[in-house]
Amino acid sequence: MSEEKTNVEKLQEELCLNLKNAALIMDDEEIKKADEFCQGYKHFLSNCKTERQAAAFAAEAAAKAGFEPFDPKASYKAGDRVYYLHRNKAVILTSFGKKSLSEGVRIVASHIDAPRLDLKPTPLYEDSELALLKTHYYGGIKKYQWAAIPLALHGLVILKDGSRLEVSIGEEEDEPKFVITDLLPHLGAEQGKRPLSEGIKGEELNVLVGSRPFKSDSGSELVKLNVLRLLNEKYSMVEADFISAEFELVPAYKASDVGLDRSMIGAYGHDDRVCAYPSLMAALDCKAPEYTAVTVLTDKEEIGSSGNTGLQSSYLKDFIADIAASQNLSAREVLRPSKCLSADVNAAFDPTFPNVHDKLNAAFLNKGIVVTKYTGSRGKSGTSDASAEFMGEVRKIFDDAGIIWQTGSLGKVDEGGGGTVAQYVANLDVDVVDVGVAVLSMHAPFEVVSKLDVYMAYKAFSTFLA
Ligand code: MN
Ligand code: MN
Repeated sequence: MSEEKTNVEKLQEELCLNLKNAALIMDDEEIKKADEFCQGYKHFLSNCKTERQAAAFAAEAAAKAGFEPFDPKASYKAGDRVYYLHRNKAVILTSFGKKSLSEGVRIVASHIDAPRLDLKPTPLYEDSELALLKTHYYGGIKKYQWAAIPLALHGLVILKDGSRLEVSIGEEEDEPKFVITDLLPHLGAEQGKRPLSEGIKGEELNVLVGSRPFKSDSGSELVKLNVLRLLNEKYSMVEADFISAEFELVPAYKASDVGLDRSMIGAYGHDDRVCAYPSLMAALDCKAPEYTAVTVLTDKEEIGSSGNTGLQSSYLKDFIADIAASQNLSAREVLRPSKCLSADVNAAFDPTFPNVHDKLNAAFLNKGIVVTKYTGSRGKSGTSDASAEFMGEVRKIFDDAGIIWQTGSLGKVDEGGGGTVAQYVANLDVDVVDVGVAVLSMHAPFEVVSKLDVYMAYKAFSTFLA
């Protein structure tokens, strides 16, 4: 057999789009670097399960790296680095660039909230001598996936005297866990006839928190009373304090490698910490870039970016206005020439469920970061469709830097859909495109990503911000 390529092979190489597995492109040294990078990512995942924890982690890492707390009245010069912690739930890190802000900034925006279960304002009740907590789910979840798995409880409580109380129960090995019970299959015949989306209904997401009554010969609801007594002993809490609190239930397990080849990471909350962490690391590395580099870790994406910590609020625009004012510019003068990577995940092609994807336009594990021109649904509704010009620019930046990337779309046309923060950044008159990591089992309590893709996200964000 001759080693020489046939004319057809040559022509195919020249003309056809041919995406290879990143493991076949990267050398051993770079694969090792990727695996090492993911050790830090797993640590972040296991220790930052809520948006508050992720925001605190980012602010602390920034301060440690020499970033100063942002002062809206100060003026900054090239090389200055600041961080802004917004209401303890979102963070903006900025490295001031050599060019004037009038030439625009480079933004990487990801989100640090993830689908979860929140406690209702009055959650605690007793039924049949069991104490339970009522929840309201946050973000898009398949409710049945949250039953019969160990859960941890994280919260911030403002007590009657105004003091702040942070609660975390269930993350340590010797700490108790919580659980939503499910019906045994033996008695599940009727439940089995429900549509999957109602396998467990919203009002059935009740969390088991106790079963032993307060010892007394009289009185009612003694199991609930005993739970309140324990909360009071440990945290000085009373039942009314649930009202001025934010309690979040998340899977209690840590991130771990997946597969015999350890090529993947399984964890709660990849969406969107798998973009937030690489973008944070890229921001920390970024010193005196050409253009001012702005890294946003935002909240509330999973419920539509609403609220004053979501990107539909003015906090990013106001931040830009503040730094613009320090160079005697208006926000719009800075925003108009600005460019943004909306760093968010996309669905990875799943061979078990091939029918929802258009294989030609789907993203695959290990084929690098996914550049998604548009999201939305039903005829591109609710998306910012990136322009050919900006797609061309991003393509060139990534190709020149040897970044392995692919394109993706969120499923077949009319199969469903979704959105990201891209449209809200676009509303500020900024060029924006979605760039992120492909995820299997997205929004499940245990999502899966490829380590090489995570590393490519870090490389891509570093290159874009540099
Ligand atoms: Mn997301
Ligand atoms: Mn999501």
